[in-house]
Amino acid sequence: MRTEVAVVGGGPAGLIAARELASKGVQVKVFEEHPEIGTPNHCAGILSVEGLKRIGVELDLKFLRHEINGGTAFAPDGTGIRITGSRTRAYIVDRAIFDRHLAETARDAGAEIERNHRILDFIYEDGRVAGIRGDLDVEASMVIDAEGASGVLARKAGLPRPGGGVLAGINANVTDAQLEPGMVEVWFGEGLADGLFAWAVPAGEDEARCGLATGKGDALELLRGFIKNRFGLTEFGEPARWPVLTGGPVDKTHGDGLLLVGDVAGHTKPTTGGGVILGGMCAMMAAETAIQALEEEDYSAGFLGRYDERWREALGGEFSSMLGMRRFLNSLPDPRMNRIFASVKSAGLEATLETFIDEGDMDLQSGVLRKALTHPGMLRVMASSLGRLALGELNSLFNL
Ligand SMILES: Cc1cc2nc3c(=O)[nH]c(=O)nc-3n(C[C@H](O)[C@H](O)[C@H](O)COP(=O)(O)OP(=O)(O)OC[C@H]3O[C@@H](n4cnc5c(N)ncnc54)[C@H](O)[C@@H]3O)c2cc1C
Repeated sequence: MRTEVAVVGGGPAGLIAARELASKGVQVKVFEEHPEIGTPNHCAGILSVEGLKRIGVELDLKFLRHEINGGTAFAPDGTGIRITGSRTRAYIVDRAIFDRHLAETARDAGAEIERNHRILDFIYEDGRVAGIRGDLDVEASMVIDAEGASGVLARKAGLPRPGGGVLAGINANVTDAQLEPGMVEVWFGEGLADGLFAWAVPAGEDEARCGLATGKGDALELLRGFIKNRFGLTEFGEPARWPVLTGGPVDKTHGDGLLLVGDVAGHTKPTTGGGVILGGMCAMMAAETAIQALEEEDYSAGFLGRYDERWREALGGEFSSMLGMRRFLNSLPDPRMNRIFASVKSAGLEATLETFIDEGDMDLQSGVLRKALTHPGMLRVMASSLGRLALGELNSLFNL
């Protein structure tokens, strides 16, 4: 069997790349190991309104579950900072249905989607990737690897897999759990979710989707404790576990005949671990490079390196700002985090933060981070909570 482009993995990144290629008349086949697209679903499903537009997804009631216009962040000692926006900022989507919708759009554009096919390796020809090998061999001019966080095939091809910042993620639905409509909650704490946070988002009437990602401890036990403390409940639905990536992009996302997209490329937001939007945006850039390569009949690493250059130019600064913020947050012991929350409240800066977040971009966060970190009031909070030395380090992380 032969195709112009073979895509490994029927998650958002692979399906978006396939949609873009097929819509330009490229012959593309997607190979997904599971019998059904979208299942198992590991995701909290928070996707920004702007982000959905950026990845070319029209809103559809099939997958939209809740509108989100704000949230409350809780310090380890329980101090909450509540931010409400003037508009809908994000949606909670049902990721299983969302992914199936992406598959339908890709199919409608002309892509073929083969389920129940686990790809075991690439086919190599003269040292370059020239197809995929599973229970059937498929030759291809090029392969797009969208296998997700595991990075098994990428590593076999000699490319780096996501390294630092790989956290144990877990999610479960909790019934009889009330949340304020339109609001999400994030909870910080080294003993709760070291390296990220725990979350509770609306999942239905009197139902919440609770989860966390952590670099330390048993994620299931931590989730159990979180649900008990937050809702006083001990029962919850079947938990889904999967890695959450906060370490930023891998060093190289292309090889001879090969492009990496989505989680396998480390294209997630280091501040939150969310990867659908940035992964999807980079997948669209990968598809553009693949189309140029097909036109030029040049699948060499030299040519495909245009993809690396392209996403780094568009999003490299975003990834590094968010990585700077992640490193800063990871460096804060709980008492310091508590002090920052308390100082923001006592300095009356909640409304200022609310304006920044209301005007800021949920996915391209460098602007809002820079604004917050150069605001005189916020600088005073940081200086009083962190001391001059740590403030200096923070400034150098952001080149302020
Ligand atoms: C707990 C948790 C909560 C999250 N919450 C959010 C959120 O709220 N918002 C957000 O934007 N992101 C969130 N994310 C991150 C998001 O889920 C990922 O960034 C996104 O799914 C990455 O898309 P992808 O297509 O790269 O990979 P995936 O979605 O992982 O898809 C990869 C696909 O490839 C298939 N596959 C893998 N290997 C093979 C193989 N060898 N052969 C064939 N098929 C293969 C897999 O079965 C899978 O279907 C969350 C992640 C976790 C773990």
